[in-house]
Amino acid sequence: MNKNILIQTVNKYCAHNYHPLDVVLSRGHGIWVYDTSGKKYMDFLSAYSALNQGHTHEKIIRAIKKQLNKITLTSRAFYNNQLGLFAKDLCKLTSFEMALPMNTGAEAVETAIKVARKWGYYKKGVKGGKAEIIVCQNNFHGRTISIISFSTEKQYRDGFGPYTKGFRIIKFNNLKAIKEAIGPNTVAVLLEPIQAEGGIIIPDKGYLTGVANICRKNNVLFMLDEIQTGLGRTGKLFAYEHDYNAKPDLLVVGKALGGGFYPVSAVLASRSIFEVITPGDHGSTFGGNPLGSAIARASLRVIVKENLVERSAELGRYFLSKLKTLQSKWIKEIRGKGLLIGIELHKEAGGARRFCEALMTEFLLCKETHEDVIRFAPPLIIKKGEIDSAFKIIKKVLENPNL
Ligand SMILES: *Cc1c(COP(=O)(O)O)cnc(C)c1O
Repeated sequence: MNKNILIQTVNKYCAHNYHPLDVVLSRGHGIWVYDTSGKKYMDFLSAYSALNQGHTHEKIIRAIKKQLNKITLTSRAFYNNQLGLFAKDLCKLTSFEMALPMNTGAEAVETAIKVARKWGYYKKGVKGGKAEIIVCQNNFHGRTISIISFSTEKQYRDGFGPYTKGFRIIKFNNLKAIKEAIGPNTVAVLLEPIQAEGGIIIPDKGYLTGVANICRKNNVLFMLDEIQTGLGRTGKLFAYEHDYNAKPDLLVVGKALGGGFYPVSAVLASRSIFEVITPGDHGSTFGGNPLGSAIARASLRVIVKENLVERSAELGRYFLSKLKTLQSKWIKEIRGKGLLIGIELHKEAGGARRFCEALMTEFLLCKETHEDVIRFAPPLIIKKGEIDSAFKIIKKVLENPNL
């Protein structure tokens, strides 16, 4: 079918909650995607880091096909023979004791919030209904009512009230703000180790360790949302590892856990924290299903076997150093960790979107985040030569005096 008809069909039958670039994709492999006329693009968004392993990875396809012929869904009313293996692999890889499987990222964040609140009432002794969770300005944790209740992004909130109570919003990258905000009813601090949607905002070294220490001292749970930054994206398995000693009490993972095939998310924590969750407290029809579990196991295996964490660190460093040589009047700052890189443009540039559109016409797909930041987050399987090709395109577009 013709591209314009396909776009019109989406716009006619699908609610307009996105404003996509003008390209219709029908095929993908590795870092490459193809539009309906067969034109080939580099994918430098990776579905917001859900495609760290690249598109249609053969090893993951093989695991899916194997599982498809056996059993795909049991519900948690019964045991299945994949969930335990998945949870074990995930716990071993991340050095956590237990996992609680969900599907989407937002669901896993909601789960972490529920666990923290119940821990607060049953273990910390906070009075019923009083639990408070500290979050940061400029956060992104998903789109449910409770999560947008503590967003500071006007568009994410406006028109969606009434909001969920029990959240206190403070400045990011500011330890004093956390110390001041903690009170007797504080059960948790929830933050992203790098604010990705917020514009690739990287806190000072020592900040996360400081938060972890403050939390420990005050008997408050430290919760990190690594749905986007985790599983190799920033050049470490988890972004908190860039800091000194910042292992959280609860870690939320998603996106690349499903290898780009399937929504799989999880909350990781210690046995003593998960003790507060008893049968019937929380659940999900699809969470922990055998197909998703098999996919997640294969997705993790690819990250380990193909050294995607090390690749991300090495190629990220290489890509960032190249980007820093760009001579463009529009560029305000270039920052990143591993293969999560943002180019912040000056206000006079008129927003990042027109640059993303120009990059698309040169066959490189990426998306603006926060108006003025172009985010580059290619699949971690990318090769050095492909980074060189991408850089040529980026240079051509950003250094174009007429743009
Ligand atoms: C994408 C994302 C989420 C939400 O995940 P969904 O699967 O879209 O619900 C939450 N937190 C962070 C940091 C994310 O990047």
